[in-house]
Amino acid sequence: MPMYEYRCTACGETYEQLRRMSEADKDLACPHCGSQQVERQISACSIGGCGGGSAGGAGFS
Ligand SMILES: [Zn+2]
Repeated sequence: MPMYEYRCTACGETYEQLRRMSEADKDLACPHCGSQQVERQISACSIGGCGGGSAGGAGFS
């Protein structure tokens, strides 16, 4: 399951979520303010550029 990055246009928060590809844009809601004004960001991970790197691993913090 790919990791997607979303940005809430209501409060400006960004967050990441693991989602099925078919549900990437489904039922979006900001975890901070609950707004559904959320847009998906283009993430390298979703295109398959994530993982397999030798420098630093996934780097989630
Ligand atoms: Zn928000």
